[in-house]
Amino acid sequence: MQQKHFRNGGSSSAHRSGGPAFRGRPSFGGKGGGPRRPSFGRGGYGGNRGGGRSGRFSSFSDISKFVNKAVITEETTHFKPEHNFTDFKIDEKIKVNILKKGYNEPTPIQDKVIPHILANQDVVGIANTGTGKTAAFLIPLIDKVMRNRTEMILIMVPTRELATQIDDELREFSRMLSIFSVCCVGGAPIGRQLANLRRSNNFIIGTPGRLKDLVERKALNLSKFKTVVLDEADRMLDMGFIHDMKFMISRMPADRQTLFFSATMSRDIQVLIKDFLRNPVSISVKTGDTAKSVDQDVVRVGSRNKLDVLQDLLSQTDFSRVLIFGKTKHGVERLKEALVQRGFKSESIHGNKNQSKRQQALNLFKANHLQVLVATDVAARGIDVSDISHVINYDLPATYEDYIHRIGRTGRAGKKGKAITFID
Ligand code: AMP
Repeated sequence: MQQKHFRNGGSSSAHRSGGPAFRGRPSFGGKGGGPRRPSFGRGGYGGNRGGGRSGRFSSFSDISKFVNKAVITEETTHFKPEHNFTDFKIDEKIKVNILKKGYNEPTPIQDKVIPHILANQDVVGIANTGTGKTAAFLIPLIDKVMRNRTEMILIMVPTRELATQIDDELREFSRMLSIFSVCCVGGAPIGRQLANLRRSNNFIIGTPGRLKDLVERKALNLSKFKTVVLDEADRMLDMGFIHDMKFMISRMPADRQTLFFSATMSRDIQVLIKDFLRNPVSISVKTGDTAKSVDQDVVRVGSRNKLDVLQDLLSQTDFSRVLIFGKTKHGVERLKEALVQRGFKSESIHGNKNQSKRQQALNLFKANHLQVLVATDVAARGIDVSDISHVINYDLPATYEDYIHRIGRTGRAGKKGKAITFID
C-alpha cells in the first residue's frame, strides 16, 4: 500500500534528509498553518487537449504529489513470477547471457510479456520506468533473430541516451551470438551510421528524426523489417515525433509484429495503438502514478539562497550519486559550474552538448567518478544508472508526468530511492 504523508503543521516526517547541515533550515512542509501552495507555472494540470503534453502544472494545488513515503511494492519484493528464465522457450545461449547479467528471475513485465512476444503476437505493455521492460522485449527478439538470421528489427525510442542504453543492453544479452546492431541517433555523426547500415544488421535502434532521415537517404529500407518496438511511445508523442513515427510505420510491411510500450495510456496513445497494432495483447504492470519505491519529499527554500540549500544537502554523506534536474540548458550548465566551484564532482547533460560529450558525462556518472549529474528533462529521459541515491528537482518539472519520469531514475529494480523537490 502506498502511504501518503501530507505535510502540514509539522506533522511527523515520512522521510527526512536530516544531518547537521540541514537541520533547522529548509523545513519539509509548512511551518504551521498547513502546506503552502506553490505556483508551478503555465497551463492547467490535466489539460492535455489536442495532443499536447499532458499533466501540465498550473498553480500546483497539491503539494502531496511530491511527498510520499517509499514502499517497496509487492510487485518488486513479493512478486512470484509464473516463469523462470529457464522456462522460456529461448535459445540456451541467451539464458547463459541472462544469468551472466545477474538476472535471477523475471520482473513482472518480463514474466507476462515474453511468452506473447515469443508467440509472435502484437503487445501493448503499460509499464513504469525501471520495471525491466528493455529485457522484456530484447530477450524474445534476440531469440527471434537466432531462429531466423535474416530477421530485421527496428527499435524506436524518444532519446539518444535511451537508444544507446538499449544498444548496450542488447550487446550484453547477445554476447557471442553474432547478432549485430546499429544505433542511429541524432547528434552523432551520420557518416558512421551510414557505413554501419551497409553491413548486415539485425537490430536498428534509433530516434525517430534520425531514422526518418536515413530512410529518406535510402540508407534504411524498412520494407525488410518485420518487427518494430516503439518504446516510451508516450514520450515520443510528447516530444512531437508523431509524424516521424507514422512515416516509419507506413513504410514497414503490414504483416509485422509490433510491440508498443508506454508508461501512460492517454486517448492519443489509444489512437496510435489502434492504428499501429493488430489484435494486441495488453499487459499492464503499472503500479500507480508515482514510483512507490521512491521516498518523495519537498524542501522549502524560502528566503535562503537555493544553491546554499543544495550545497547543504550534497554535503551529507548519503547523497552519494545525485541526479539534479534543471529547467533550461543554460541553467543546467550554470548550476554544474557553480557546483564544481563549490568542490562537488559534477557534470551536466543537456541539448547544447553534442552526443559524445553527453555520453561521456553519463559514463563518468555511471562509473562513479561523479557525485552529481545535472540534467534537463529531455537529456535525462531513459537514463538507467543504477544506485542513484537521490533525484533533486532543483527547478520544478513542467508537468506531473515529467515529475514521474524524473523520480523514476532512482528507486529502480526494487531498490529504494529518494526524490527531493525544491519549492519556494
Ligand atoms: P528498464 O526498465 O529496462 O530500464 O530496467 C530497469 C533496471 O532493472 C535496469 O537496471 C535493469 O538492468 C534491471 N533489470 C531488468 N530486469 C531485471 C531482472 N530480471 N532482474 C534484475 N534486474 C533487472
